[in-house]
Amino acid sequence: MTQPLKENREFQAETKQLLDLMVHSIYTNREIFLRELISNASDALDKLRFEALTNQTLLEGNSNYEIFLIPDEATHTLTISDNGLGMTYEEVIENIGTIAKSGTKSFLAKMEEAAASADHELIGQFGVGFYSAFMVAKKVCLITRKAGQKDGVRWESTGDGTYTIETCEKETRGTTIILTLQEEPTSDDHPSETFANQYTLEKLVKKYSDYIRYPIKMNFMKEAKPLDADGKEIADAPATQTTEVRTLNSMAPLWTKNKSQITQEEYYQLYKNLFHDWEDPLEVIHSKVEGQVEYTALLYIPTHAPFDFYQRQSTSGVQLYSKNVFIMDNCEELLPEYLRFVRGLVDSPDFSLNISRELLQQSSQLKLVGRNLEKTVLKTLENLLTKDYPKYIKLWQEYGKALKTGVYSDFHNREKLQELLLFPSSNSSEELTSFKDYVARMPENQTDIYYAAGKDRTQVERLPQMELLKEKGVEVLYLLDRVDEFAIEALGSYKDKKFQSISRGDLNLEDSSDQTKKESSELNKENQSLLSAVKQELTGKIADVKISSRLKSSPVCLVSGDNGISLSMEQILAEMDNPLYKASRILELNAGHKVFNVLKALYENQPSSEEFKDYCQLLYGQALLMEGLLPEDPIAFANKIATLMTDANK
Ligand code: ADP
Repeated sequence: MTQPLKENREFQAETKQLLDLMVHSIYTNREIFLRELISNASDALDKLRFEALTNQTLLEGNSNYEIFLIPDEATHTLTISDNGLGMTYEEVIENIGTIAKSGTKSFLAKMEEAAASADHELIGQFGVGFYSAFMVAKKVCLITRKAGQKDGVRWESTGDGTYTIETCEKETRGTTIILTLQEEPTSDDHPSETFANQYTLEKLVKKYSDYIRYPIKMNFMKEAKPLDADGKEIADAPATQTTEVRTLNSMAPLWTKNKSQITQEEYYQLYKNLFHDWEDPLEVIHSKVEGQVEYTALLYIPTHAPFDFYQRQSTSGVQLYSKNVFIMDNCEELLPEYLRFVRGLVDSPDFSLNISRELLQQSSQLKLVGRNLEKTVLKTLENLLTKDYPKYIKLWQEYGKALKTGVYSDFHNREKLQELLLFPSSNSSEELTSFKDYVARMPENQTDIYYAAGKDRTQVERLPQMELLKEKGVEVLYLLDRVDEFAIEALGSYKDKKFQSISRGDLNLEDSSDQTKKESSELNKENQSLLSAVKQELTGKIADVKISSRLKSSPVCLVSGDNGISLSMEQILAEMDNPLYKASRILELNAGHKVFNVLKALYENQPSSEEFKDYCQLLYGQALLMEGLLPEDPIAFANKIATLMTDANK
């Protein structure tokens, strides 16, 4: 395709906003732009190396992979060059002019929020990559040529909302980025340093990019005096400028060293480097295993989940290496989905470099490593829970929901996972409780673990079904996350203690004494014909009507049958576009309530009267409302209440 000579284009609106944030530098440490650009270069080299496995011609006869930094203090520029895969014209527009990330809108909203509150840690989650160049440069010029293609592309912008793009010649494959630097010093602490200074750059590479797997080279300008025959400097001879190519990074993968030789700072730097986080991780797991499969794993638990962690299609964050050489990103077989928040890498000599993804996925060795990793992570979580509870709570707040989904998606480790779960409960308004602690507090005669599901604590605490349990001092777990009830259902019981919803079936409260039970069963018998009439009136809406043994001051409540899904699960499934799953609804009436007597009188007076029918519908509507559900015909419901209100004041 022939491209127009030179195009003037506008950044996508969201990108403009992002650029604006960059230019008005919301970050305190602008120096990280270098890490970002070097890491992009390294990614491009990875991609080329991978593609070249099956297409050697892409290398164009040069199989050296390298990154070059060319600072120039005189012109105040810094050039960062790689001979990686490069980009085509369309790819430049696609990648550099737009933010290709999911949920761009919410991303920006959060960004701005973070900028406004100057919450740099929060900003750190966003990894703005290429755009960080505009923190230090007043102009950015990108020249790139995709490996194997003829034409190059030149892209240029001053970060003002527009850019130009044109085809150009470029001899070598890959990408060169020329930054025309702002006049400002690198930081307030070092007023004379600039990002075009070779020593500053050397320091920054050591600090942030030491473990990049490709050499980061720079021509060092040196003033040197000529040497005499013994190799000593001739003191009185005039100095001359010489250049020397130096590789700035050690390229030694940290994980191959012994644990004892690695500092925490080194672990953290590598993490930030590899996973574009700006914040230290919460936990590091480094393990070497020799057995059926030999491998080293270096795993991290990030302090914060990415802002869109629970929305997007999840990808695993574990990279796979073989003998220090990168094979692939996001190797899904290495950790189950519920642990997708864990980032890190696995390096194993047992995997070959040019194995295809498909073959790799079938590899039993990979599965074995995966199972081991899962165990290792679970063990770490267990240790945190028992030995560093405050840290565990932080982790739980970020990833608790993911762990809960593990209970119903991962059968093998259910036993271990259930010990890691925490829930709010009626026991304390602040602290969460584990099943183990709940059981430890259970009175001897209590056989079940009680729970109530709802949208929030206030709603659950006011459920009519809660009243009796509260009065009896029975602790109730609050399931407030949409995944909770599914997890509890999947577990069924904890160490022989059945999970019992307060809105389902028989509550089985020991000390609600046989007396109450007997009473309610007698009452049910006594009122059999009334109950049948109510049921008849609500045909198609409910499965049964009963006299309740769980109500105190409310006239009615809705509970679900012992089998099948619960009412709150039904709501969640409906929100997830599964409206066909319905809970079986049982309407329970409180025989001790005045309304019951009115209903009974109406029935006895004239069973088929409109008034009796209205009362049935109204009671059902109320029960729905208390569960957070709308009556099926809200207008009819409202009209009936209006009539009732006028009748009452006639
Ligand atoms: P990220 O690296 O997080 O995807 P960036 O904004 O840093 O976000 O980069 C956007 C995209 O531009 C990259 O995903 C990559 O496709 C492309 N890109 C950036 N730098 C280079 C480079 N040096 N060589 C090839 N492609 C690059």
